[in-house]
Amino acid sequence: MALANDRKIWTWFEGEWHEGNLPILGSADHATWLGTLVFDGARAFEGVAPDLEPHCARITASAEAMGMRAPMTTEEILKLAKEGIAKFDDDAELYIRPMIWSTRGEGSTMVDPDPDSSAFALCLEEAPMAEPVGIRITTTKFIRPSLESATVNAKAACLYPNSARMLKEASDKGFGNAIVCDALGNVAETATANIFMVKNGEYYTPIPNGTFLAGITRKRVIQLLSDAGETVHEGILKIEDFRNADEIFITGNYPKVMPVIAFDEQEYEYGEKGQLARKLYWDFSHGRI
Ligand code: PMP
Repeated sequence: MALANDRKIWTWFEGEWHEGNLPILGSADHATWLGTLVFDGARAFEGVAPDLEPHCARITASAEAMGMRAPMTTEEILKLAKEGIAKFDDDAELYIRPMIWSTRGEGSTMVDPDPDSSAFALCLEEAPMAEPVGIRITTTKFIRPSLESATVNAKAACLYPNSARMLKEASDKGFGNAIVCDALGNVAETATANIFMVKNGEYYTPIPNGTFLAGITRKRVIQLLSDAGETVHEGILKIEDFRNADEIFITGNYPKVMPVIAFDEQEYEYGEKGQLARKLYWDFSHGRI
């Protein structure tokens, strides 16, 4: 979903809040030409911001995985995020994005970021929550890299051109997202979110193997379902398993829990198990669980 050009944006940078799409990168910054930028994404909606703390914690871990020292603590980022949310209407639908990047390389090659050169900004922007109308997915010829070939242990901006080409391929075929495998041919996730399937009343999702982002929403949904007495299996899943599924849905901070209503020519209901996962997430978000 494209974001509105006139959306309200607030950015915290170098100790101050600025309204709008603030320029934050220098033309000679390391991140600008060498891609050393990590980010995280949380949501605020209906007056709540579920799992804001783990999203603020994950960006500091991502920075370290990219060879940078996080210039802010989790607590400091969380405090700023709450300050930023308060700049909008109480029920505003927001994308909350802390970012850390390197301004300077280290040593003679300069490709290695200087761990002490990291900068921080926090951007909050209006971004409507999608209704659970469902998405249509297909396969992709692209795969998730492994740790040997990419910084998959960080939520890093440089990983997203790979997702973008998957989405382009899917969109050229008339679909909204793609189910993505790792180098071994096991299902990893979609281009932008984690994936679950339901078979015979039980939930299944790929087991984290270091190739994909085992998301905060995924973890929350597994916990909520398990606490509600549902059976959730984390295991090795193949494309064929998803073709034989009774239901499929995705999880991620942006859509939260979204049903898959088609996988290639196969169509699916927004079934009761997917609805339960979404309902539990909303109950949790509003403190009802
Ligand atoms: N995988 C990818 C590639 C993502 O971009 C996201 C969204 N951050 C996720 C999974 C879901 O992670 P989370 O629930 O932590 O947002």
